[in-house]
Amino acid sequence: MEEYAKRVHDPYFQPQMATTTASGDSSTNRVWVPGPVIVGAGPSGLAVAACLKNKGVHVLILEQANCIASLWQLKTYDRLCLHLPKQFCQLPLMPFPKDFPTYPTKQQFLSYLESYAKQFELNPVFNTTVVRAEYDRGCGLWRVKTKVTEYVCRWVIVATGENAEEVVPKIEGMNEFIGPILHTSSYKSGDCFEHKKVLVVGCGNSGMEVCLDLCNFNACPSLVVRDSLHVLPQEMLGRSTFGLSMCLLKWFPIRLVDLFLLLASHFMIGDTSKLGLSRPKLGPLELKNVSGKTPVLDVGTLAKIRSGDIKVYPGVKKLACNNVEFVDGRIEKFDAIILATGYRSNVTNWLKDTNLFSEKDGFPKKAFPEGWKGESGLYAIGFTKRGLLGTSIDAARIAEDIARQWNIEMNHFKSLNHPTTT
Ligand SMILES: Cc1cc2nc3c(=O)[nH]c(=O)nc-3n(C[C@H](O)[C@H](O)[C@H](O)COP(=O)(O)OP(=O)(O)OC[C@H]3O[C@@H](n4cnc5c(N)ncnc54)[C@H](O)[C@@H]3O)c2cc1C
Repeated sequence: MEEYAKRVHDPYFQPQMATTTASGDSSTNRVWVPGPVIVGAGPSGLAVAACLKNKGVHVLILEQANCIASLWQLKTYDRLCLHLPKQFCQLPLMPFPKDFPTYPTKQQFLSYLESYAKQFELNPVFNTTVVRAEYDRGCGLWRVKTKVTEYVCRWVIVATGENAEEVVPKIEGMNEFIGPILHTSSYKSGDCFEHKKVLVVGCGNSGMEVCLDLCNFNACPSLVVRDSLHVLPQEMLGRSTFGLSMCLLKWFPIRLVDLFLLLASHFMIGDTSKLGLSRPKLGPLELKNVSGKTPVLDVGTLAKIRSGDIKVYPGVKKLACNNVEFVDGRIEKFDAIILATGYRSNVTNWLKDTNLFSEKDGFPKKAFPEGWKGESGLYAIGFTKRGLLGTSIDAARIAEDIARQWNIEMNHFKSLNHPTTT
């Protein structure tokens, strides 16, 4: 073990280390990884890998999909643009190109991520799902298992994201509904819904935007709004609402900033409760802090609701044939249902740890800014409910922490391998 541990931290051994050695289980290869194993090659995995490589730490990225940023490549709709201005979404060490618009399109964001991976020579191992990761107290190392390989390492960085699995609610009569029922992760555009009556269940940013997209393709969308929510204009006083909020929070208490946002919103978009979108008691920023619930930034959907192009309904009670019965007793016919019901973390499925992550929801137990570091070399990135800005903050902290340990050990092993003769 001592010999292995020496090699684990010796970059000169890396080529040999990357070759597999037989383990007790003949069907499993065991690979010693000198640096951290990063699980997930989304923006978070790439960001922390770049920061680590920039500090001279070797990384191995394991990704279940066949590409980087699989959420953005495979599970998002065509018209998607970043919801927040680009300066709040860029990854560490590489800004967006100057000629990108304030809200880059999905394609632009993806091309930026491709360049990012290229620039830092990040080469994830694709089609590799981590099915189990567990700390082995006996040898003081992590065992990260895929179907065919066990990677053994000192550090594990969980970068599997807040959106790893689709949340699909169980609705009575779902099997009887004759039209298609799909999650937004499979929705690309309203192209195939022309003149169809489509019910969109869920009114976060995705649900609202899918409704708008359906309108643009001459479909007849309706929106199910079950809970209260904050809708804010995407921009205020010529600045992004998000940027303005960040700026005001530096000077004023959160409740005062919330009051300002609500007054400005009322002035710009009117009383949303008249459209069936009632506001929660807590202000938008306070609610985000307390519950993680993100306010919806309106990109034109409200105007379509106001004009009657999008109808608003309360919760769904049950489905039958092509009928949808709502909780207020109304029954309407629909051709298709799109579930904009969000995502959940998948960490509890594969990570055997109860210290950093909660078994309840697969998120770190401690809220931001804590929650990025666990015990025995375990780290989490991208679970702050603060989008890509949270990712950048996590990436810098994790890289700093691991690089410090890496350098101490590297110096130690160098002195063992090449002792100074006196
Ligand atoms: C529609 C939409 C729009 C958004 N817009 C914005 C925005 O404008 N600004 C912003 O800041 N945030 C936005 N977000 C938030 C979003 O979470 C981030 O943009 C970003 O994708 C998060 O990156 P991530 O790497 O943490 O997670 P992900 O992008 O989800 O990447 C996680 C990766 O881990 C892989 N993975 C999962 N499980 C395993 C496993 N067991 N083994 C191996 N690999 C695994 C997945 O395949 C995936 O590639 C948006 C989210 C959505 C859904």
